[in-house]
Amino acid sequence: MAKKFIYFFGGQRADGNESMKNLLGGKGANLAEMAGHKDLSLPVPPGFTITTEVCIYYYKNKKTYPKGLKEEAQKAMEKVEKLMGRKFGDPDNPLLVSVRSGARRSMPGMMETVLNVGLIEKTIPGLIKQSGGNERFVYDAYRRLIMMYSDVVMEKAAGIDPSTALEGHGERSRTIEPKDDESGIRKQLEKIMAQMKKEKGYTSDTDLTTDDLKKLCSSFKQRVREVLGKEFPDEPREQLWGGIGAVFSSWNGKRAVSYRRIEGIPDDWGTAVSVQTMVFGNMGNNCATGVAFTRNPGNGENEFYGEYLINAQGEDVVAGIRTPAPINEYSKSEHNKDLVTLEKAMPKIYQELFDIQKRLEKHYRDMQDIEFTIEKGRLFMLQCRVGKRNGPAAVRMAMEMVKEKLITKDQALMRVTPAQLEELLHPVIDPKVEMTHKPLVKGLPAGPGGATGQIVFSAHDAVEWAKLGKKVILVREETNPEDVEGMRLAQGILTARGGMTSHAALVARGWGKCCIVGCSALQVDYAKKEIHIDAKVLKEGDWLTLNGTKGNVYEGKLPMMDASEENKILLEFLKLCNSVKRLGIRTNADTPEDAKKARFFGAEGIGLFRTEHMFYGKGSDEPLFILRKMIISKTLEERKKALDELFPFVKKDIKGTLEAMDGLPVVIRLIDPPLHEFVPREQTKLEQLARDLNISMEELEKRAEALHESNPMMGHRGVRLGVTYPEVSAMQIRAVFEAAAELIKEGKKPYPEIMIPVVSDVKELNDQLTITKKIYQQVLAKYNIKKIKHMFGTMIEIPRAVLVAGKLAQVAEFFSYGTNDLTQMGFGFSRDDIGGFLPDYLKKGILPEDPFQSIDQEGIGELIKIGIERGRKTRKDLEVGICGEHGGEPRSVEFCHRVGMDYVSCSPFRVPIAKLAAAQAVLKEKKWKP
Ligand code: PEP
Ligand code: MG
Repeated sequence: MAKKFIYFFGGQRADGNESMKNLLGGKGANLAEMAGHKDLSLPVPPGFTITTEVCIYYYKNKKTYPKGLKEEAQKAMEKVEKLMGRKFGDPDNPLLVSVRSGARRSMPGMMETVLNVGLIEKTIPGLIKQSGGNERFVYDAYRRLIMMYSDVVMEKAAGIDPSTALEGHGERSRTIEPKDDESGIRKQLEKIMAQMKKEKGYTSDTDLTTDDLKKLCSSFKQRVREVLGKEFPDEPREQLWGGIGAVFSSWNGKRAVSYRRIEGIPDDWGTAVSVQTMVFGNMGNNCATGVAFTRNPGNGENEFYGEYLINAQGEDVVAGIRTPAPINEYSKSEHNKDLVTLEKAMPKIYQELFDIQKRLEKHYRDMQDIEFTIEKGRLFMLQCRVGKRNGPAAVRMAMEMVKEKLITKDQALMRVTPAQLEELLHPVIDPKVEMTHKPLVKGLPAGPGGATGQIVFSAHDAVEWAKLGKKVILVREETNPEDVEGMRLAQGILTARGGMTSHAALVARGWGKCCIVGCSALQVDYAKKEIHIDAKVLKEGDWLTLNGTKGNVYEGKLPMMDASEENKILLEFLKLCNSVKRLGIRTNADTPEDAKKARFFGAEGIGLFRTEHMFYGKGSDEPLFILRKMIISKTLEERKKALDELFPFVKKDIKGTLEAMDGLPVVIRLIDPPLHEFVPREQTKLEQLARDLNISMEELEKRAEALHESNPMMGHRGVRLGVTYPEVSAMQIRAVFEAAAELIKEGKKPYPEIMIPVVSDVKELNDQLTITKKIYQQVLAKYNIKKIKHMFGTMIEIPRAVLVAGKLAQVAEFFSYGTNDLTQMGFGFSRDDIGGFLPDYLKKGILPEDPFQSIDQEGIGELIKIGIERGRKTRKDLEVGICGEHGGEPRSVEFCHRVGMDYVSCSPFRVPIAKLAAAQAVLKEKKWKP
């Protein structure tokens, strides 16, 4: 049988179903499911979907179609005609269709749509008849078609750049550049319309009369002819295939390509095209159109939530030109509270819609984003798809759906992405400070959390400023899909127009970005780069702070803080992660405060306590001064004196952290950085040091100079310090054991793991083990105790250590992968200097991503595997973990799970993310199916 390219849907049956997203695109598959599934059988306007395979064929074959496609389409069209009792192109009773894009994964506005296809001079009278004599509606539909079609099909898809006039068709896979706004045909037609409105003194499009619209249609056609050198097509099939080709072409449009880059979607998926009967929400006041969600996508509450517009086309809701009304009481906000709800305006239809959304959610077992149109009192479902949601909403919905027995616990865990979870940990404006500030203006809370930044007025500027390291708030009248890159790089987004379902709101929600929309008191003057709020004027570069959870906009820069501690649902969700994950999750913490925070999030120990951090930051002046004395010491005697002074500080710090983590393991790493990093640079500090050591400045400078190394990261650091200055290791080891001994005496259960950094040979480890054993015995005797539970182990951060891991494991009871250094030394890329060439490596595709962020599984990952294998061959119960930055990055966590590590360790804030990634790794291994 020949390959099937076209899938029909409508009249309570469909060729396809929901599982066919790869072939029919998300939209096509869901239309088929809504129309054809026996539990749904929803009122979907009939139509057919042309598969993504046709799109792939189209690009491989010089923008042509497979043989037989048009005949197959004709047959499907006849079925639609039969169901509707109308005929495509029939002057008496015409059928009009929409031509829509729909890829496997997409974003609103990513590709093109053409509406009202099939409306030609000849079919105008027929449509007037159908609409009950509503001539105005028909000419309005016609002028919309001309505007949309000339822009999308005749200009963009044809690859015409208005600045160079006619250029003809572009080559096969060329990227379509967006038209320069001012010269594009759509802008030109909009100008003609604006001019007419001005001349007549109209304020709104709805003021245009039938005669005005008739005149507009003919001026539009004339302008199309002049600018594009072609007649506007007056033949329905030409319109149809023009529309289909344009949708396929929009797969390679700039917006779609840039979205694919951001989301990592392959270019060869292609888009499907759905051709669907037009239903009209703009035939009069018994018509409407709207967008709704089966639960609130902003906070996850289990309430039907949405917006609608009477007498409007679907795009009017999303475009944010008119303020949509709430569908019910629950959907009311400050902004729209005075508008009449759908529930009040059309109670019967609202009830029908309410029942349908309940069925849809039960059927799909997930929150649905639905589009509907009411044509002359009759409800039609145009689309449904899994609704985008922000992090807090995702977690809440997942947990509540488990309680409602709608989904399993495993499904709940897979419903939340690590990035969404991260949103819950995002900063908010410090509430104490916020209380003392009055909002400058209010809008709709479209994306949660707080953001502060400098005002910019274009996506382009947002990108440029962000590149310079500036934090920006992108302020727009409204956003459109061309703005996505700027929106992504901005800290927050603020728009003057649009509702909760406007482009800005949808996109921000998907990304969990702080966003306020529909701030109508805001007047944006792009030309002057100013915003006006009554008499107040703010300029480009001024600071603004947004509270995207409440919709409040503040002037100036307000401080941010973290709000995660109060979130009960987050903690419940983390419990669920714990019940599934196998990997242990520890934290990298150097202070008792960090340790406490991480413990709150459920850290199961400390994977890295960097001893040297006690010499930075708060309260470090005194120990740092003594450390410096130790470093500058020349004789053993001098050094020992300094070490004795330092000892109580080190012990206190270690004790505090062991106590905060009581009962849990704490990996304490001996001092690692090259010592000269600690030598002061300021003259006064140097002088003070010389005085205290009783040496001349000249001598001090000589000693400091002697510490200087050409390549310190490969120099005198890590275990090498312990080998040359055993007394430095001894002091730290004694501090660990004495701190533990004191805690044991206090009835606590400390569990230190002593870790030696930058090891490349077992003899280095043996050298340090000898010291450790000796001091251990001394401390036991001093405190008169029998045992201190502890381990002795090594970091694996040098490629040679991986290769000799079998030998290292003879001495080391645990390994901890220092993937920061292992990546540095494995690639030979300096950790500190990679920024100089990484952007070029990424741009040229030499590296897929920054290997210091996500483990390079092909190379460094292989080293990790070899080390684990060799180590565990020697010591079966060898404990293996990771403490490099990768330990909190979701894909790296999954990798660590797969290679059989015992735990990952990451910064306190990434503990929840690592937990989720670890739980998801288990489910993926079980070949989890949704
Ligand atoms: C590492 O190298 O991965 C590590 C954790 O140690 P540091 O970053 O302190 O060198
Ligand atoms: Mg290291």
